[in-house]
Amino acid sequence: MHDDRRLVEQRLDRVLKQRVLPAIHAESIPLDLTVWQVPGEPVPVAEALGAEYEPFSVGQQWGRPWGTCWFRATGVVPAHWAGRRVEAVFDLGWVSDWPGGQAEGLVYDVDGHPIKGIAPRNQHLPITHQGPVELLIEAAANPDILHDGFVPTPLGDLSTAGDAPLYKLARADLAVLDENVWHLHHDLEVLRELMLELAETDPRRHEILRALERALDALSLDDVSGTAEAAREQLVEVLSRPAHASAHTISAVGHAHIDSAWLWPLRETVRKTARTFANVTALAEDYPEFIFACSQAQQYAWVKEHSPEVFGRIHAAVKAGQWQPVGGMWVEADGNLPGGEALARQLVHGKRFFLDEFGVDCRGVWLPDSFGYTAAYPQLARLAGMEWFLTQKISWNQTNKFPHHTFWWEGIDGSRIFTHFPPADTYNGEFTGAELAHAVRNYSDKGGGTRSLLPFGFGDGGGGPTRDMLERARRLRDLEGSPRVTIETPDAFFAAARAEYPNAPVWSGELYLELHRGTFTTQARTKSGNRRSEHLLREAELVCTAAALGAGFDYPYERLDRLWKTVLLHQFHDILPGSSIAWVHREAEATYARVAGELEAVIDEAAAALAGSGDTPWVFNTSPVARTEVFDGMLIQADPSSAGPLRLTAPPAGSEVLATERSLDNGLVRVEFDDDGLISSIRDLTAGREVLAPGARGNLLRLHADLPNEWDAWDIDRHYRHQYVDLTRAESVTLVEQAPLSGAIRVERAFGDSRIVQTIRVRAGSRRIDIETEVDWHETEKLLKATFPLDVHAERTAAEIQFGHVFRPTHTNTSWEAARFEVYCHRWVHAAEHGYGVALINDATYGHDVSREGGVTTVRLSLLRAPRSPDPHADQGTHRMTYAIVPGADIADAVAEGYALNLPLRVRPGGGAGEARSLVDVEGATVEAVKLADDRSGDVIVRAYESLGGRARARLRTSFPLADVEVVDLLERPLAGVHLALDADGSVALDLHPFEVLTLRLRRS
Ligand SMILES: [Zn+2]
Repeated sequence: MHDDRRLVEQRLDRVLKQRVLPAIHAESIPLDLTVWQVPGEPVPVAEALGAEYEPFSVGQQWGRPWGTCWFRATGVVPAHWAGRRVEAVFDLGWVSDWPGGQAEGLVYDVDGHPIKGIAPRNQHLPITHQGPVELLIEAAANPDILHDGFVPTPLGDLSTAGDAPLYKLARADLAVLDENVWHLHHDLEVLRELMLELAETDPRRHEILRALERALDALSLDDVSGTAEAAREQLVEVLSRPAHASAHTISAVGHAHIDSAWLWPLRETVRKTARTFANVTALAEDYPEFIFACSQAQQYAWVKEHSPEVFGRIHAAVKAGQWQPVGGMWVEADGNLPGGEALARQLVHGKRFFLDEFGVDCRGVWLPDSFGYTAAYPQLARLAGMEWFLTQKISWNQTNKFPHHTFWWEGIDGSRIFTHFPPADTYNGEFTGAELAHAVRNYSDKGGGTRSLLPFGFGDGGGGPTRDMLERARRLRDLEGSPRVTIETPDAFFAAARAEYPNAPVWSGELYLELHRGTFTTQARTKSGNRRSEHLLREAELVCTAAALGAGFDYPYERLDRLWKTVLLHQFHDILPGSSIAWVHREAEATYARVAGELEAVIDEAAAALAGSGDTPWVFNTSPVARTEVFDGMLIQADPSSAGPLRLTAPPAGSEVLATERSLDNGLVRVEFDDDGLISSIRDLTAGREVLAPGARGNLLRLHADLPNEWDAWDIDRHYRHQYVDLTRAESVTLVEQAPLSGAIRVERAFGDSRIVQTIRVRAGSRRIDIETEVDWHETEKLLKATFPLDVHAERTAAEIQFGHVFRPTHTNTSWEAARFEVYCHRWVHAAEHGYGVALINDATYGHDVSREGGVTTVRLSLLRAPRSPDPHADQGTHRMTYAIVPGADIADAVAEGYALNLPLRVRPGGGAGEARSLVDVEGATVEAVKLADDRSGDVIVRAYESLGGRARARLRTSFPLADVEVVDLLERPLAGVHLALDADGSVALDLHPFEVLTLRLRRS
């Protein structure tokens, strides 16, 4: 046979595009329009119903950036359309067919009931009655922030976005949907895309080609509508061939990945969820086989509050089995940066919301889009009752291809969770032939597993799954040459995948994303706000518990619940990482300030209740470590998690700080400075060794050029290292403190348009050298790092993560290690050779890198960035942070100093009676949280963990008598009915394995 394949394919392309598609809505009449432009921020529908509307017509411009226009559309369904499928069709003037991140609408009826959202790929609204039609469209003029790529734009904040209208209304019609043509379109598209994926040597490809040709022959271009059915008949046979016996199975589930804030503010996400969820519930009514999986409890909470009607429809869909709440987290949080307790609370608040609202106990973590995943997850997920974990983002790796799609993921403590990573490489599936074929080709567990998950639907306000996707899914259910497509819940998929592949391979440790490494540093004030909030929440819970038990203080359950949820929301994977527009980060900083104010007030009230009145200074140590610390010129001793009258101790002989213009010496460490304020020597006087590498200077600030190839706020590209300036010149180096117990030297530097003032402080009795830093930052596309070249031969570093730490090699033997050229830690990173280590502690930052040359290990802390997209002024202005170096530290010291730096002692006046006591102390393990039980029973919940990576025989002691100690899960529910024995002295022995997290419910007697 002569090969005319290309000719037939080209004929099909043209006919599909120019004849079949336009014939779907061949008959239409325009709707009449009026408009009301909301003067300010969005308003409820009730207000729009009563507004004054002005005439408007298609082709007119509308929508200043972030503005809202309400359109009233009226018309009459022509009598001769009776019995046909009528719909309204809108085009708000979409700038592309990219769904999300541009204009969107929600259509209401005249009584204000929401019907359905409209988006570029979902423009229709069913009209089910004859006669007059009246609709109200709430149209949001959200700007397309990344329209021109990663360039600075003023559109990302209301105050800079201007007033020029962004959109031109392109269509508002009543139309007839020609069902034969519509179905023909789907038949042709599905077969065409399948054909193009098949090998040219595959007979099936040619059978499809000839069937398509016969269909084109049967279709009259002069009467597409009248001949569509005849054309479809030519395709029945090729569409009815079943899939191969060994065909891969795609478990598809409807999904809409809605970023809780990103290129739009939080308030817009409130509306995006209402639009998408209205669509989804409408679609569920039309397609009984449709199932939708939806994460992020926060988004449900918004819909419940702002669109109760849509929330009612969600309830009905859940009940009908068509909607599955998944993920069990408050939001899809960043996967690296949330602190241990915060990550636990993401799971607690997410799971509890779904339990309370729907009676659904989520079985899996749903995190397709976070920028890497901490090795603490498997244990925390299991402790929240999760059985599976879904991720997707690792397919974005720049360097290495992740070797598995279905695997057991093992955390730092050895816990494993069954994990899947969809091989379609998308969480916005559309059932294109290319996507399905890629999923099959890419799936790396063939021979072991036979199935993969495909979340389908447009995210971010694109409206979620569409009827077109469901029509495709029906045709692809069992089709030769294609994977089988079955729509099912993620729970069903994971159960089947695990049953067929119980011995899936194991991946141990973190799932590091080889991309978006800037998210450990960008928007530093958002990050320090998170860090501060996490520690204030810990303090508030601890002090309130002590006050409730000791002084009858009214434990503020509701306030703490609300504040936790606020902090959890801001850990969303585009807020905490710093990848949102200016509006989002401006609001986040204000919110963190409010949260801090409220938590300080809560702590103050509880502390006052506990301490009583009087003039005796009380000290509160909210950290889990015993401390002997200089405070306000005194040396104070404080037990872990304790409060009580201040206990002074005399400084040991020789511990006074000797400070000169160029040195600080407390008998434990001696720090020397050069004339430019750089640290020329750190002498560990106990170990008798120099900490800095020979000839090197410590705390050297290095300013790097930092323009990644794309994804400015997200990425640090490796080439940043090639260009830098060392900030070696100081404006002044001044001795600013010379007290017996504390000495400090201040160094001021100016560079570019910026200034940095650092106070380097040494205190009696402590090896910790604090570097208190204030930066007035006005750089552009720069990365500021603080460098510490250590005379330590470290093969690896330990970096704190949630409830433990991970080791990372300092060499770059393989591409996997080389790709980790920027990593994160929480409060500390530790570099050690046998017998000697150094810790770097911080109270606000996360990003750093480590390299080793010969015997010198260099740790560089990433302090600030200045990307210009999507926020053109990211990080500009004032920053305050403290980092510290602790010579001669082992990991236990790093853990203790990490807590101490982030939880400064609090001193306030109180009554003179009694002595300081630890509310809860776990000797041999680390207490992460102490709080009253969420069920308001008055039980005390303690979460402790083994922080050093070894086995611990620990002992729990409390200041209150115990009746019972029960092991519970993160949600404070009994875990396997384990009760621990109380010893005669009222203490409890605890056995913990390495990095084990243990939650205990303490019943008081
Ligand atoms: Zn996302």
